[in-house]
Amino acid sequence: MKKLTIRARVTIWYTLLLCVLLFCIIWSIQVTSRAVIKGELYEDIAFFVEKNAEEVEWDDGEIEIDDDFKIRENGMVCLVYGKEGELLAGKLPSDMIVDYPFADGQEINFPARGREYYLFDKEVRLEEGHSVWLRGLIYDRETERVLEASVESVFLVLPLFLAAAAFGGYFIIKQAFKPIETMICTVEEINAGSDLSKRIPVEGGKDEVYRLAINFNEMIKRLETEFEVEKQFTSNVSHELRTPVTVILTQCEIALEDSELSEEEREAFEVIRRQAHRMTQMIAQFLMLTRLEQGVEEIRKEKTDLKELVEQVCAEKQRLETGKPILCMELFQDIETYVNREMVSRLLFNLLDNACKYGKDGGRVFVSLKEQEGEIRLSVRDEGEGIPEEAREKIWNRFYQAKHRPDAGLAGGIGLGLFMVKEIARLHGGRVELESESGKGSTFTFCLKRE
Ligand code: ADP
Repeated sequence: MKKLTIRARVTIWYTLLLCVLLFCIIWSIQVTSRAVIKGELYEDIAFFVEKNAEEVEWDDGEIEIDDDFKIRENGMVCLVYGKEGELLAGKLPSDMIVDYPFADGQEINFPARGREYYLFDKEVRLEEGHSVWLRGLIYDRETERVLEASVESVFLVLPLFLAAAAFGGYFIIKQAFKPIETMICTVEEINAGSDLSKRIPVEGGKDEVYRLAINFNEMIKRLETEFEVEKQFTSNVSHELRTPVTVILTQCEIALEDSELSEEEREAFEVIRRQAHRMTQMIAQFLMLTRLEQGVEEIRKEKTDLKELVEQVCAEKQRLETGKPILCMELFQDIETYVNREMVSRLLFNLLDNACKYGKDGGRVFVSLKEQEGEIRLSVRDEGEGIPEEAREKIWNRFYQAKHRPDAGLAGGIGLGLFMVKEIARLHGGRVELESESGKGSTFTFCLKRE
């Protein structure tokens, strides 16, 4: 049920409710009509018996029944019984079985041979202590049949009525939800393209949806402003940092060329050089990120020998990872295609960087490049801990770090690597697949359609 839309759920609920209400109404109408009809039948038979009672007299030591006494009338029958229960006048219809003891004014209904009939007794006291019993009988005048027929016809039209109510209701709810649908579409568009300049179209009115849309637009506006400030800040800081870090790096290179350095001094300069290099990478990452987000980074694709590019990036990474996991080139095919060299280098570098950071100590990192079913597949596999199931969706988000490594210092990263990988793949019209097994490692594959 939860998988259904609100529209469908509301329609189902109110149709069910309508069904239950209709059943209750039909049932109560049936009960009341039966009670009313029954009341009328009792009134008729009581009146008939009372009238006949006036026609029974005691005359000269005998019971005398006047001519006005009516044994049958309008489907009613009146019988006269003596004190001992012997029938004095009238004839019991063959389909009636009445062996009830007499009781003054008793009203009983009898189901007999598929039909119901009602009974009314009255004791008529005559002179000299004599008395007779009058018993009135009346058939139920087709009450059940009429009621059943009406219920049947109600049940025939009920499905049509319910279908009309369900369709009508669904249509009304759909109309009512239209502004919400529009909101969802806009939010989805914002989400898909990360375009915070979009707004939910707001039409007049002061209803709840209007207020929600206004507040939502306000919220997006604030987010947009804050993101702009943050982007501008990142961009400025990165630009400002680039020059001093480059100077540090250059000075380190120069210092390391000095052959008179002691072992300790050389080690210290090596450390500075490595970290300055990492900072350069981070700054480059930040700058590319701001360019990507500002939409400045136009995809300028050029014909590229992918094998050569991958080998270059791997060699550079291997040079930086002195003594760390060894890069293994598993399968390399000669592939030429159109890509943005700088971006794809960044993508691969980030994947290799993660494989080295989160791979097994002393373990290896496997890189493969192949073409399969019209798709170029560039994979980086490590032998690390793997990525927990619950983190696999989130690792692609900006600044998300599933496993923070405070010990790693700058090498620990800032949670931007995979976000950029995903963005670069998206801008190339490709995707990144992840396979990960706990304790065995992870494989990230950049898949790109052959151009
Ligand atoms: P960073 O490496 O700077 O933390 P990333 O965006 O590159 O940020 O990665 C996000 C998170 O994904 C990392 O913090 C890490 O926990 C996890 N991750 C990425 N690559 C791997 C990998 N190869 N093996 C295990 N975990 C990984």
